Amino acid sequence: MKIINPATGATIKTIRDDMDTKLIDKYMFLRVGQEYWVKVSLADRIKIIEKFSVLLEKNIEKLAAILTSETGKPLQQSRNEINGARTRIQWMLENAEKYLADEWVTNTDALKEKISYEPLGVICNISAWNYPYLVGVNVFIPALLAGNAVLYKPSEYATLTAIEIDNLLKKAGVEENAFKVGIGGKYAGEHLLGLRFDGFFFTGSYKTGKYIYEKVAKKMVPCQLELGGKDPLYVADDITDIAAVAEATADGAFYNNGQSCCAVERIYVHENVYDEYVAAFVKAVRSWKLGLPTDEGVYFGALTRYEQLEVLEEQVKDAKANGATVLLGGKRIVHDGNFFEPTIIVDVNNKMKVMQEESFGPIIGIMKVKTDKEAIQFMNDTDYGLTASVYSSSQERAETILSQVNSGTGYWNCCDRVTAGLPWAGRKHSGIGATLSHQGLRAFTKTKSWQMKG
Ligand code: NAD
Repeated sequence: MKIINPATGATIKTIRDDMDTKLIDKYMFLRVGQEYWVKVSLADRIKIIEKFSVLLEKNIEKLAAILTSETGKPLQQSRNEINGARTRIQWMLENAEKYLADEWVTNTDALKEKISYEPLGVICNISAWNYPYLVGVNVFIPALLAGNAVLYKPSEYATLTAIEIDNLLKKAGVEENAFKVGIGGKYAGEHLLGLRFDGFFFTGSYKTGKYIYEKVAKKMVPCQLELGGKDPLYVADDITDIAAVAEATADGAFYNNGQSCCAVERIYVHENVYDEYVAAFVKAVRSWKLGLPTDEGVYFGALTRYEQLEVLEEQVKDAKANGATVLLGGKRIVHDGNFFEPTIIVDVNNKMKVMQEESFGPIIGIMKVKTDKEAIQFMNDTDYGLTASVYSSSQERAETILSQVNSGTGYWNCCDRVTAGLPWAGRKHSGIGATLSHQGLRAFTKTKSWQMKG
């Protein structure tokens, strides 16, 4: 398997991906490892993961450079990602005891009733490349804290990062056979689906997620899916600082080159503020630098996957053919790496591909609406349901709108953000189940109800 630098097209390394027998061996080792790992006390598991977090901090420059080399993400955004992962870990460490320890319901001489949270066993985590630290940490940290062993199959576009994570987890003290990396792409993932894991946790596209869900259904084990989005944002006409809102929302759309599951993917703007908002939005995006992700001050790096360039071109073509106007960008950049111009499209309608299909790139459609009611209709007109945001001076107005939008997260005056204490959950084609929060800690456990009479 070739690891390619998406910003230069150069091969960084060639790595042998895991053949079936190797994956089976790893799975068998994990079975044994889990028996040891579960005997490590929760307090000690917490200390080990704490050490892992310290190691992330100590090695941040090296890790960020590796992440940038294989994903094309600007170096500063790689550092931000690692720091963000540490913040999430911190929350998990502070809350693990609270949510994983036994819970007493009744504790009298005559009757004792409690709930214990037992690990699922050996779980399989098939993951995505866009934020390998963040989406990885959402799964393998709570899984390990809860006493599971984990087969982590990173995306083929984040293999080197996964190898570093493995090294640091082991250095921190995670049992050698409690965590294994399955190296490879679709073929390796496919093979893992045939093994007898006690749970499957997937982060990736709707297409693959649906396939995995169907494939593992007959195993009757938990299968959680964190999938894509087509996240809408509505700008109401009572916002005061239009330029600031335009800049913040443009960042929500274009951070990490738009390759975020919760990136703003379509924008609806009230007609009263539309012209001013669009002008300020274009101005903000124009001011951000595009270049090699290793260069200082670059905001737009390379796209991770070459294939995405074609998806973006198709969305521009479809929009233009149906009457849209491209205000900025619209084309791939001729270069050895995967670069696409930051693209802003107006005069769109909600049927266009750019307003319906996940773009996962530096492209946005902005549409004028007349009323909040119309905005709600358009926001809900999607197969996805990950996040939705409203910018307004009125919390009441925003909450009224968001309560009518079918999404797992609602944002008022913010967007494209994830908080460790809140469940991260998609609806409809955006997924099943939740990571993060108390739900995310307990997702890797099975409850036992104890009823005891003395
Ligand atoms: P993808 O579906 O192409 O791949 C995800 C993983 O599945 C990879 O590890 C891949 O090797 C593996 N895979 C591919 N085919 C497989 C098969 N047949 N059987 C088993 N495994 C298989 O997704 P991607 O391009 O890596 O990630 C981008 C997608 O992930 C976007 O849709 C994005 O929105 C979504 N995502 C969602 C969240 C979330 O929290 N909801 C977070 C990050 C990314």
